[in-house]
Amino acid sequence: MKKNTYSYVERNHILEQLKQAHYDVIIIGGGITGTGIALDCTTRGLKTLLVEMQDFAAGTSSRSTKLVHGGLRYLKQFEVKMVADVGKERAIVYENAPHVTHPEWMLLPFYEEGTFGKFSTSLGLKVYDILAGVKREERRKMLSRAEVLRKEPLLNGEGLLGGGEYVEYRTDDARLTIEVAKKASEKGADLLNYTKVNGFHYDAEGQLTGIAVQDVMTGQQYRANGTMIINAAGPWVEKVIALDRHIEGKSLLHTKGVHIVIDRDKLPLRQPLYFDTPDGRMVFAIPRNGKTYVGTTDTVFEEDLTHPKTTLEDKKYLLRCIQSMFPEAYIGMSDIESTWAGVRPLIREEGKGPSEISRKDEIWTSETGLVTIAGGKLTGYRKMAETVTDLICAKFKKAGISCGKSITKGLRLSGGNFSDPKDYPRYIDMKAKELATLGMSIEDGANIAALYGTNADTIMHLKKEIHEPSDLPLPILLTLHYAIHYEMAMTPVDFFMRRTGALFFDMNWVQTWKKPVMDYMAHVYNWTPERKEEMAADLEQRIADATEAV
Ligand SMILES: Cc1cc2nc3c(=O)[nH]c(=O)nc-3n(C[C@H](O)[C@H](O)[C@H](O)COP(=O)(O)OP(=O)(O)OC[C@H]3O[C@@H](n4cnc5c(N)ncnc54)[C@H](O)[C@@H]3O)c2cc1C
Repeated sequence: MKKNTYSYVERNHILEQLKQAHYDVIIIGGGITGTGIALDCTTRGLKTLLVEMQDFAAGTSSRSTKLVHGGLRYLKQFEVKMVADVGKERAIVYENAPHVTHPEWMLLPFYEEGTFGKFSTSLGLKVYDILAGVKREERRKMLSRAEVLRKEPLLNGEGLLGGGEYVEYRTDDARLTIEVAKKASEKGADLLNYTKVNGFHYDAEGQLTGIAVQDVMTGQQYRANGTMIINAAGPWVEKVIALDRHIEGKSLLHTKGVHIVIDRDKLPLRQPLYFDTPDGRMVFAIPRNGKTYVGTTDTVFEEDLTHPKTTLEDKKYLLRCIQSMFPEAYIGMSDIESTWAGVRPLIREEGKGPSEISRKDEIWTSETGLVTIAGGKLTGYRKMAETVTDLICAKFKKAGISCGKSITKGLRLSGGNFSDPKDYPRYIDMKAKELATLGMSIEDGANIAALYGTNADTIMHLKKEIHEPSDLPLPILLTLHYAIHYEMAMTPVDFFMRRTGALFFDMNWVQTWKKPVMDYMAHVYNWTPERKEEMAADLEQRIADATEAV
C-alpha cells in the first residue's frame, strides 16, 4: 500500500510517471461522483487514475445544500425508488464518516394552503422513514401548532397549522469529497487536481485507449493510457463528450442553485427548517457554526459553469423567502455575509421545469467506449460508484481480468476510523485536550478534531515537519500544512474554500489570515512574485463572488 500520496509532492511524481503507466480505469472529474468511483475501483484491485481540471470538489460538489438526505420533496414527484435508494445511503455515509455527517432534527412547518398539509406531512414522513429504513430513534414526530412555535418562535404564526420533525444529516460536501479522495489515494489510486482532459487517444478500431491532459499549473501536456475511461464531469459531461469522436448521449439542462449565509445572531434559528416559499417551492434554513444559511434557488443556467455567480435577483428572492417565514427577523441585503452558487446537471426531460426534473442518475456508454455518468445526488455517491464499477468489472471479467466485489459499504472514509460513530463526540473531547498540550486552546483543538476526525492523530505530530517561517497561529499553521501535504491544496482558494469552508462560513477569518496563508504557500511552492500576485487576485475574485452580486 502506498503512503500519503495525496500531497502536492506526490502530484508531481504521478505526472512524471504518467507516460510509462497503464491504468485499468481513468476517471475524468474529481467531484463526489468521480472520487467515489475512484475509491470503488481501487479497492476492487483496479489500477486507477483520476484527473480533475480544477481543485477536487471545485464543481457542484462544494456548492450543494450540504445535506446527506433522501430528498423528501421527491416523494411528491413519486420518485419512490430514488428516495429509498438515496435515503438508505445516508446511514452508510454516517457510519463511515461521522466527522462529516451530523444528524439533526429538521422542522417542517405546515400552513393553510402550503406545500404539505397535516395528513401529507405525516404520511410523507412516515413513507420516508420506511423507504429510507430510518432508525427507530430518528423516526418522524408530528407537532401541534403550539409545539412548533415553542420550538421555533421566529416562525410566522399566521396560517400555521402544525409541523413535522425528522432527522436530516448535515454535511460538508467538499470535505466529504476530499475524505473519499484521500481514502482512494490511501488505497492506491492516483489522483491529480488541476489536470484537464483536452482530448482522447484511440486504437485502430476507434476504441478509446487514453486521454490527453494538461497540467493547468504549468501548461505542460501529458498522455495517460487506460483501458476504461469514465466521464464523471458533472455539469461538464457534455463538454467531455464533445472531445470524443462519436458525439452521442443525453442532453443536459443546467440549473443554478444559490445559498446565502447570515450571521446566526441575525437569524437565530434553533434548528434546521425546511419551509414553503411564497412562489410554492421549498427551501432550507440551516444553522451551522455560528451562521445560518438559506437556500436554494432553482433557475435555468446558461453561463460560465466554472464560476457560477449569485445575482442580485437570487439574493432578493431568498430574502423574500426569509421575510415571509420569519417576518420579525428583519434580514436585509447588508446582512448577507457570503453566498455560493452551484450548477445542477439534470438530464433534460421535455416539458418539465427545473424543479420538476428528476435528480436520478443515468449511465451510458458511447461507441468509443466512453462511460458517462450524469445526474444523481451527493448522498447517493457510493451506490452510484458501485453501479458504475460493476459495469466496468463486467467488461473486465469478459476480457479475463479479475475484479473484486465492492467493499465500500463497510469501508471507513479517511478520518472516519471510529468503530461506532457515536464515539465521535468523545474523541473530540479527548483529542482537544491532547492538541492543547501542543500550545493551543481547547476550543481550537476541538475544532481540529471535529473537522478532521481520526486524522487529528496525524495533525498532532505535524509540528516537527514544519520548517517554513510563519506568523500564523499554531492551529492554522497545522491545518494549512496538512492541507498542502496531506490534502493536495495547491492554491489559497483551495485552502479557504474547500479545505476549511471558511470562504462561505467565516469571511472575517479569511480576511484576517489571507496574507500570512499566501506568504506560507508562496514559500512552500516557491512562487515568483508574479505567480503570488495571480494567486492573490484569484482569492480576491472568489471573495468578491461570495460577497457581491452581479
Ligand atoms: C444547489 C444545489 C444543491 C444541492 N444539494 C444537495 C444536497 O443537499 N444533497 C445531495 O445529496 N445532493 C445535492 N445536490 C446535488 C449534488 O451536489 C451533486 O449531485 C453532486 O455534487 C455532483 O457531483 P459530481 O461529481 O457529479 O459533479 P461535480 O462536483 O461538478 O464534479 C465534476 C468535476 O469534473 C471536473 N471536470 C470537468 N471537465 C473536466 C475535464 N475536461 N478534465 C478534468 N476534469 C473535468 C470539474 O472541474 C468538476 O470538479 C445539490 C446540487 C445543487 C446544484
